[in-house]
Amino acid sequence: MDTSKKGFNTKLVHAGDFEDIHGSAVTPIYQTSTFKFKNAKHGADCFAGKDPGYIYTRIGNPTINALEDKLASLENGFGGIALSSGMAAVSTVYMALLGQGMHMIGTSAIYGPSRGVMERDFSRFGVEFDFVDTSDLKNIEKHIRPNTKLLYLETPANPTIQITDIAAASELAHKHNILVCVDNTFNSPYLQNPLDLGADIVVHSLTKFINGHADIVGGAIIAKDPDTYKLIRQTMVYLGGNMDPHQAYLVIRGVKTLSLRIERSQQSAQKIAEFLENHPKIKWVKYPGLKSHPQFELAKKQQKGPGSMISFELKDGIKAGETLMNNVKLAILAVSLGGVETLIQHPASMTHAGVSHDNRIKAGITDGLVRLSIGIEDLDDLLDDLKQALDKI
Ligand SMILES: *Cc1c(COP(=O)(O)O)cnc(C)c1O
Repeated sequence: MDTSKKGFNTKLVHAGDFEDIHGSAVTPIYQTSTFKFKNAKHGADCFAGKDPGYIYTRIGNPTINALEDKLASLENGFGGIALSSGMAAVSTVYMALLGQGMHMIGTSAIYGPSRGVMERDFSRFGVEFDFVDTSDLKNIEKHIRPNTKLLYLETPANPTIQITDIAAASELAHKHNILVCVDNTFNSPYLQNPLDLGADIVVHSLTKFINGHADIVGGAIIAKDPDTYKLIRQTMVYLGGNMDPHQAYLVIRGVKTLSLRIERSQQSAQKIAEFLENHPKIKWVKYPGLKSHPQFELAKKQQKGPGSMISFELKDGIKAGETLMNNVKLAILAVSLGGVETLIQHPASMTHAGVSHDNRIKAGITDGLVRLSIGIEDLDDLLDDLKQALDKI
């Protein structure tokens, strides 16, 4: 069905669907590595791009392509590329767009490994970079060089929930012929569409909100124009970070309820953020739905809602944070986010342990910061759980 003119929820359920010979109601799993050619000429035509037939699963597969088409439709992009993990997506974008002597500007408070792979690995190939607080455009402008090729934003940033103005940053970057990539994992396409705001590329860890059930790891890249899409797709095919058909099937199933899950979890997140902000043992709370968030107005303009990620610090710092994490019973002490279950974690010793202490502090990731990903459990149960754990401090 052509869903291009349909609403977001119809696209969630039906975009990317295709008719198979048995009339499957949902996208089936094509668990095959390779595809039969009808004859030698057909094989040659597939390789020459004259026939759209499938060749080999690393290059393309009906189940994976159904997911890619769905994601491209949700982000209003030209094409999607599904990969084995969010980090495969991030590193494939870096690999496709950067090379020796080229420069990238990235958000300083960013998913730890998105920074780590640049500092540890791409630096060995002569790629130059600056990680700055992109929520202040002046910091971006100051670091633009003649060889800057990529502005890599994460908004809301992980785990500081700092917000970058995608439209303004894209305008600035485009004046200097710099491509803009946004990691949209924290918001998902339900809350934010970076391509509509001016970005050129979106990356996702599908592991999080899009799949939403904490049972697979996956990633995606969505490009706005055909040239960027083809360029990055070829890098994916050569590097081999493709998704697996079974993994794609699970993501297709998981994403159908994205709106329902996010609506539910962000309703609770708002109430939990308010509860934490008013709690005497809490020093500060960062949540885009609170007036105290430094970019409350920008969040309202750029996002369809505040989302379900909260970070906060206890007055007694990390010791109190540890007591809290050790005493919650319903919230699960685990990294990752965006699933139906509520998770709690400590970035400085967990997700961002790979970032040096200096760089963490500069990025606003204090030692006492605790991150919550709110799930779809009953709000009262979540509040009771946090209350009883806070009482132990
Ligand atoms: C988890 C995450 C990633 C990496 O994704 P994986 O699927 O774990 O490889 C990248 N960016 C953000 C914002 C994430 O939360």
